[in-house]
Amino acid sequence: MSSLFEYDSYACKFEKDIENVAPGQPPRTTLKLIAQQDQPIHFSYAPQKGLNLSGSAGGVLVENILGKLLAIPDGDIDAHIAFFTDYGFLYPVSQTDYEAVEANVLMELVNRIKATVMLMNSIAAKKNYKNILIGTTYLLYSEPITICLSTGEYDTCVHEFTRLVHSYSQFPDMSRNQEVFNTKKFSVPDTLFPPSYQVDIEYFNQVRSSTDAGNMRLFKNLFAMYTGLTGASEELRTIIDFFFHYQKEVGVFSDIGYRKIHYFNGKQSDNFTEEMKAALLKIANIVLSAEINYNIAGVHPRYSTLDLKPAWELDNLIQALYFSIFYMKPGVEIYKRCKNPTCKRDVYFLVNATATNKEYCCPKCANAAAQRRSRERKLSQQ
Ligand SMILES: [Zn+2]
Repeated sequence: MSSLFEYDSYACKFEKDIENVAPGQPPRTTLKLIAQQDQPIHFSYAPQKGLNLSGSAGGVLVENILGKLLAIPDGDIDAHIAFFTDYGFLYPVSQTDYEAVEANVLMELVNRIKATVMLMNSIAAKKNYKNILIGTTYLLYSEPITICLSTGEYDTCVHEFTRLVHSYSQFPDMSRNQEVFNTKKFSVPDTLFPPSYQVDIEYFNQVRSSTDAGNMRLFKNLFAMYTGLTGASEELRTIIDFFFHYQKEVGVFSDIGYRKIHYFNGKQSDNFTEEMKAALLKIANIVLSAEINYNIAGVHPRYSTLDLKPAWELDNLIQALYFSIFYMKPGVEIYKRCKNPTCKRDVYFLVNATATNKEYCCPKCANAAAQRRSRERKLSQQ
């Protein structure tokens, strides 16, 4: 089978520097890593098979590297190290000196990749709006990550909304507004409730003077954007309008993780309307294309001088991973978790979204699970 792209790298060696920063605080782990010049590795991507590690002779050594990354347990430093030891680092690293990367920063970067794939999965055939909300919100709200290496500085995708929601705090002056004077309300052009939505001046003053504690500041900034940034692009307005109405009606975010969102005073899930869901879906697509385009922007076509066929040239593993996400057909292929709890093979495997009956990564896992069920049946009959 011919591959869509190939990529060369080196396996890595890792050391852990654990520093105790303050009593009662978890220690800070800095990873020291170095590329292993004598262990070159080679990746190739084939449709339906995903990103594979291939041997020097061309045969596949390990299939489905993106699935392996998804299966790394959250927050498990050693499991992250094991992955990057075998498959090389995300970016080119020195072969002569140690590079230093904070373990927490690296794990957050991996979370971003996981969130992107989960978002891709959740807009597939049967839409899962709870997960679409979590993935979209996480990717738009979490602060960008920078990794500094001897080979360069690498940043995650910075969305315009992200930059603004963390910094925009200027509320418009409503003291001389004629509409407020007449009606105690003012109109904001709104993409969710076109042409405009009426904001109560009391509500406006209440939010403006509310505390900055916790992430309340982010909602205040968002509200400042909602009321003040009326000339923003249609895309940005759609994002602002959605997050404003969602949080006003359903609940204000207090903590945004890539698998879970916490709310200040619980949430009113019933208020998550069809209009909001439609807007959310638009935003999810905007965010996904921005994330993928940003991360594969460095990929360039190259003609092989040998056979004059085009091939994609990649600079790093991040590009290879996002390129594999790019080739997942949204709504057609998703990553599923193998239902065999003791699966040692493809914990996450690529499957057609409509194949609802495919629950195991391979026949071995299906058999193992069937045997377990029959054992349990026999035990319960005794
Ligand atoms: Zn399995």
